[in-house]
Amino acid sequence: MTLSVQFLGATGTVTGSRYLLTNNNKRVLIDCGMFQGLKDLRLRNWTPFPVDPKTLDAILITHAHLDHSGYLPRLVKHGFAGRIIATEATCALLKILLPDAAYLQEEDAEFLNKHNLSKHQPALPLYTIDDANHTLQLMHPVGWDNWQKQDPFEFRFLPISHLLGASFIEMKVGGKKIVFSGDVGRNQDPILPERYHSEKADYIVVESTYGDRAHPDEDVQEELSDVIRKTIDRGGTVLIPSFAVGRSQALIYLINQLKQQNRIPDVPVYLDSPMAIEATKTHLKFADELKMPKEKLEEALKDVTYASTPGQSQQIDSNKKSKIVISSSGMLVGGRILHHLKVMGPDPKNSIILVGFQAAGTRGELLMQGKRELKVHGQLVAINAEVFPIHNLSGHADYHGILEWLSHFQTAPKKVFVTHGEPTAAAGMCEKIKTKFGWDVVVPKYLDKVEL
Ligand SMILES: [Zn+2]
Repeated sequence: MTLSVQFLGATGTVTGSRYLLTNNNKRVLIDCGMFQGLKDLRLRNWTPFPVDPKTLDAILITHAHLDHSGYLPRLVKHGFAGRIIATEATCALLKILLPDAAYLQEEDAEFLNKHNLSKHQPALPLYTIDDANHTLQLMHPVGWDNWQKQDPFEFRFLPISHLLGASFIEMKVGGKKIVFSGDVGRNQDPILPERYHSEKADYIVVESTYGDRAHPDEDVQEELSDVIRKTIDRGGTVLIPSFAVGRSQALIYLINQLKQQNRIPDVPVYLDSPMAIEATKTHLKFADELKMPKEKLEEALKDVTYASTPGQSQQIDSNKKSKIVISSSGMLVGGRILHHLKVMGPDPKNSIILVGFQAAGTRGELLMQGKRELKVHGQLVAINAEVFPIHNLSGHADYHGILEWLSHFQTAPKKVFVTHGEPTAAAGMCEKIKTKFGWDVVVPKYLDKVEL
């Protein structure tokens, strides 16, 4: 009887989460993320998968973010035909996210071919919309807290307060229990209820996005209302790059609350992202999994102007009145936010609020570091708008939060694997776990395989 875990991603990076669990000749993959960010990482999406995808019995997805799910269509393209198991809300969000990711892949390849920019002739997409649609046919939604079986593996999904549908996974196999944290959310999320925890495990795989950082002790509503008020008082517009799924809906809700409490003026709020608009519908559909009553969410959503078409998006910029614009992508790597950035970035009356984690190599990270000139669509854009990071709107717990989540384990696990962090964050989390609990902790390297 041999049992092993192999780390096929999220090592030294926050992207590409993929953990291969093997028991004798049976295999399940926990998460199936795409590598994003720096070029060296993105190239890994193109290297052959370490095992034949046909030999995987099932894939379990902790949550819908592409760094945990975006590689699924590639594996399906290469022969994976088993079940893809996730919570119902995760499956619903993947119906939006995967075809969109495929569309972007196809569009990129087309662009490279048209302008002869690739050394590959022709440049190919990582996967196509057809591959994404085949992937969706393999989705197998399951309920919360309900033990599932894929012989010899038994597992259940429990809420982790990171995103609608997001879970951590408890896995039992070969008499051992392994807990995969997925992405650990914050207990004070504006729209998600508190996370669950686990009390016993032989092995824990835990994330470390903020493993070396503590979120400042700031009141999100206070910070948000200060920036919005200040900007509108001077006749400016507030631009918020936001992840389309999850953060955008939380922001809409928070802004509506501030308006109702008369803490900010009643200026128009625009949601400029077709995907965010779709994701908003999914949030309404699964409103019973959110913290606030459905009516409150509906009320907040009615106060928003939705820009579905490119024409509606351009109209937002041509109107010079003060407003709040929420658009994606959240790290300013692409999407409609870049058009708004070009128009609004140079004006010192405006403000840009950064609300999520900004990965290495992204424009969001450059802004966070104080860079005030960004290259957008081949041209340099001066950023004179004020830039405000609000850390407590992140979907990730800081290291205090992760230690709190771990503190519920009643006995020491045999080993803890720290993943899903840039190298210094993972090392920081590792030290903090050792110091606080005295457990055996390691930071695995890419492709490390460990017998359990
Ligand atoms: Zn995530």
